[in-house]
Amino acid sequence: MRYAALSDPGRVRENNEDSYHADGRLFIVADGMGGHRGGEVASAMAIESFLAFERGNKGLPPLRRLRDGIATANQAVLKKAGGSPELEGMGTTFTAVLVEGGVYLGHVGDSRAYICREGALRLMTRDHSLVERMVREGFLTPREARLHPQRNVILRALGIAKGLEVDLDEVEVRPGDRLLLCSDGLSGCVEDAEIEAVLSAVADLEGCCRALVEAANARGGPDNITVVLVELGEEVEGVGGRHAAAKGGRRGILSRWRA
Ligand code: MN
Repeated sequence: MRYAALSDPGRVRENNEDSYHADGRLFIVADGMGGHRGGEVASAMAIESFLAFERGNKGLPPLRRLRDGIATANQAVLKKAGGSPELEGMGTTFTAVLVEGGVYLGHVGDSRAYICREGALRLMTRDHSLVERMVREGFLTPREARLHPQRNVILRALGIAKGLEVDLDEVEVRPGDRLLLCSDGLSGCVEDAEIEAVLSAVADLEGCCRALVEAANARGGPDNITVVLVELGEEVEGVGGRHAAAKGGRRGILSRWRA
């Protein structure tokens, strides 16, 4: 296995509220939201909390570990938000891939996981967003969704309520498959066809991550951009490590999930 990851604030925002984790076994993208420093706190602490749970519960089956770990991270975000007026209302998406014998997926929010096999890209997650629902029900085309004024409204995230439904999946994979986790800073402005073209054309994983970030920035980079790329194979020799959201403050994205 090889992997690489890259996070970029984009061209418009001063802070980066996305966080990611990549360690050769667990791969996570979390896109935080909330006033003040809420977004970066939420995404970073959700990953911390999940990893602590995961380390302490290795005996659980993979999908149950994903589900319970994400539920634990949700409680941690809620508790932290409840203890601080400045952090009230913060939340985060959470998309995680666990490679452990098979490949397991846990997902909440509008970050995404794709699989690319022999040059063909397929979306493995469903966005928990208002526009996804409207497209699914036939009220919008995918192109209209991309430009819709409420495209940032998400219907499920960590930090909203104690009860949390987590999408879980075991993914059928083959050696050579590439898995891409990304925040909506990529998928919201770069079309799937272009993501597919980059994943197919660029062999080097770090170069591939840079090309994806550059593609989003070439379209204005309106949001933080995070990509985690995994190429499945026989051995682990990755680059990536971790990125906690940059420190700093920014207001005004509470409407991310409130219309
Ligand atoms: Mn985002």
